[in-house]
Amino acid sequence: GSIPDSDRIDAALAGAYERARRHDEGAVADYIPILARADAHAFGLCVAQGDGRLHEVGDTRIPFSIQSISKVFVYALLCDAIGRQRALEVVGVNNTGSAFNSVIAIELNRGHPMNPMVNAGAIATTAMLPGATTEANWHLVQTGLSRFAGRDLIVDDEVYRSESATNERNRAIAELLSSYGRIEGDPLAALDVYTRQCSLLVDARDLAVMGATLAHGGVNPVTGERVVSADVCRDALAVLAASGLYERSGEWLFDIGLPGKSGVSGGIVTVAPGKGGLGAYSPPLDSAGNSVRGQIATAYLTRALGLNLFASE
Ligand code: GLU
Repeated sequence: GSIPDSDRIDAALAGAYERARRHDEGAVADYIPILARADAHAFGLCVAQGDGRLHEVGDTRIPFSIQSISKVFVYALLCDAIGRQRALEVVGVNNTGSAFNSVIAIELNRGHPMNPMVNAGAIATTAMLPGATTEANWHLVQTGLSRFAGRDLIVDDEVYRSESATNERNRAIAELLSSYGRIEGDPLAALDVYTRQCSLLVDARDLAVMGATLAHGGVNPVTGERVVSADVCRDALAVLAASGLYERSGEWLFDIGLPGKSGVSGGIVTVAPGKGGLGAYSPPLDSAGNSVRGQIATAYLTRALGLNLFASE
């Protein structure tokens, strides 16, 4: 299966790009100081089809740190390694209704992180990776995300250092989870792997391929390599449907009808199960942390291609 014909995809991409580029609302994230340097005008869209064909418009080759989008791929790697049940018990699959870095949400749920797409759940996810050491876990993350992308992903050291120096809130979250017994071992070591995973550099094309890998049962459509099982992809996409766009996940699903994941550097990956992946990049964000142009372009494109999962025709 694939999104049907290539000409239609190119026309829809061009339309989505034109529609979204006129919007200049939103603000580039600056709570991680180095992210504030991003070019607010950078804008790229890429569709990866199930047969590995790519369709691109705009700045699809500008590298940016993957940030929160890493969470879904690390969660998939974890479920593939230890099984969905154990991950479900510790991390959960329900939306918090709160911001991605909420501490109150952890307290209200007596230490349960609720889902793997908020920082608490993502740090708990990374902490559960089965490597014997912190470095072994980092290796699992870096090689795993690289297999999703189909090329070797590297860390942006400046982003990693900038975030490490300013992540007091994430340190608090990691320690709080540890106090509730939700992290085994050193919570700050787990946080360090999480911070590195957020600093991995990708571009819009990588996001499309990574999304298409989830769309196609865990087989990367460009390299042909199996990265995770089909069951894991199904589970990860269900989690995205509930929690991929922070506390706007309901609005996103209502509008777009597909699982997606956003990140504070301005990326959004959207997955059309069995059909393909879409990667969008534009740094200005709405108040929840979702790329403004990314959302507008994705809505246009998925409507033009008829991809809403809830539409009967
Ligand atoms: N590394 C960022 C953080 O932990 C990711 C946030 C995001 O993209 O939502 O705050």
